[in-house]
Amino acid sequence: MSKYFPPGLCAHCLNHFENLTSDHVLPESWYPKGIPVEFEKWQMPSCIDCNKKYSIIEEDLLTRIGLLLDNDKLESKGIRDKVIRSMKPNVGKSTKDKACRERKRKKFLSELFPIKENMLQSVIPGFGIEPNYQLSELQAIPVYQETITKITEKLVKGMTYIFNNAFINDEYLIDFDFFEKETEEYFEKLLSFDSKEYNCGPALYIKRRVAIDDDVSSLYKIILWGRLKLIGWVTRKEDETV
Ligand SMILES: [Zn+2]
Repeated sequence: MSKYFPPGLCAHCLNHFENLTSDHVLPESWYPKGIPVEFEKWQMPSCIDCNKKYSIIEEDLLTRIGLLLDNDKLESKGIRDKVIRSMKPNVGKSTKDKACRERKRKKFLSELFPIKENMLQSVIPGFGIEPNYQLSELQAIPVYQETITKITEKLVKGMTYIFNNAFINDEYLIDFDFFEKETEEYFEKLLSFDSKEYNCGPALYIKRRVAIDDDVSSLYKIILWGRLKLIGWVTRKEDETV
């Protein structure tokens, strides 16, 4: 259910609005099947424009990654089926809906490309070649850094709003990196002190360590659908340049 937000700031653009919408921190369409109705889905205030912009980014990332998720695992149950369905014109409820699904299918197919040996280093960690497949049988789809940056920004802004009742302004920089084997030990060590784990259902795991002197500067371990692992951080821009 959508939460009502009184007039105030949009958590994304920080402008003041009389009418705010509710934006799900973890997009509603990203929740796997089987979430109890009473489960509290985190929501943050957003203006209509930012909410629309995020819907496009969220749908785009779900389409690119959703087909690779395990349809039966708790963390991603039913997501692959949902993404496939969203590209099937014959299940459309109206002519417009059918055309929209067809457009999405064509766009998806047009972006696929054959993967070559020298591209393997650019594959997102955790999304390598599945066993029993040959490289020549596979196709790849690009996932843009800008998209993951935006999603990290949203998750971090949402967490800061919900747990600190604060907004992140442009004095801060939000960035991410993939959680890789080589850096795992380093980040796990940093996150082993004063950190907290948060429950946002099986599709999103978050571990967060907040700076002692500042509620906003923080380090995050983010796992989406048990598969896409990110390290996110928020730092004061002035600290970065020192
Ligand atoms: Zn906004």
